[in-house]
Amino acid sequence: MKFDEAVFRLDGVEEVILLDEIPRRDNFLEIIQNIYCPDPHCDARLVFNRRSTGKNYLSKHKSSDNDHDIDCDWYNDDVKTVKSITEYTTVNGGLTEEGKKRRKKEAMKALRDYLDPPEPKPKNPNKKPTPKKKTTESTETKRGIKVNYDPNGEVVQENTENGDFKVKEPSFYERLPHQLSVKDSGENLRTSAIIKEVKIFKSDNPQAEIKTVFGDIQITFVMPEPFFLGNERRLSVDQLIEYLEIIKKYVEAHPNEIYLTTMCQSRELDMEDIILYVLEPDFMSFQTKDGRDFETLTAVIAAISTGAI
Ligand SMILES: [Zn+2]
Repeated sequence: MKFDEAVFRLDGVEEVILLDEIPRRDNFLEIIQNIYCPDPHCDARLVFNRRSTGKNYLSKHKSSDNDHDIDCDWYNDDVKTVKSITEYTTVNGGLTEEGKKRRKKEAMKALRDYLDPPEPKPKNPNKKPTPKKKTTESTETKRGIKVNYDPNGEVVQENTENGDFKVKEPSFYERLPHQLSVKDSGENLRTSAIIKEVKIFKSDNPQAEIKTVFGDIQITFVMPEPFFLGNERRLSVDQLIEYLEIIKKYVEAHPNEIYLTTMCQSRELDMEDIILYVLEPDFMSFQTKDGRDFETLTAVIAAISTGAI
């Protein structure tokens, strides 16, 4: 049975928090260190898990001395079911156009949901956990492919059992700035922050930086040379620089109005000086504070150039 809420317990203060609300809280990192089974008589620790699809779920902490209370509604969940182990082969690969689009849409929705949380679904008070069937413990091994993002990589296809191909793309984890921690070092991420300043370094090796804020967190997005020079771009270097200059001017005239929502990569994260890398112009999308979403760099440039925003 899934948990749709958890008890956040810290320094003797308790609060029941709905699963969907956890990632929106400013003290997200503190909450996920201190969540427990929602049964009032149970002290089992819970873990907040995030799938790369953006779906979140709660599970029981897997330490041996962390069982549910015998009278807890979730006690039966402790009965072991079939363990499944997936052995992954790691390969490098790129993303499809469709894959980038879908991830950016999800990232834009995550910001909107944070800024304007949807109504929580009403709880069904009669819902009782259904006891799980006891199964003998056994292990099955599956095989899978894990894809590391490579900006110049081909899109990876995996053979399925029925002879078809399935596109396998690297995962990009949703992390709003207040959810970022050193654990997110060396990952593909999706995030959002308000653009404060655009810096462009024109030379034979062009680079740019977008300085952003989110609450009291500052993030620098770096657009390294591959952003400008990669081989699959539809935009030339000059065009990209011109576009960034348009955004730079717009931000100077309209500070605190536009969010960069982007797919990006982290290296070793320093929480005092957060730097994220944007390797493709196609990773960027933009969102205004008043609710307008622009899926691409070209779309926001068109809106600025025509005075639509
Ligand atoms: Zn419990």
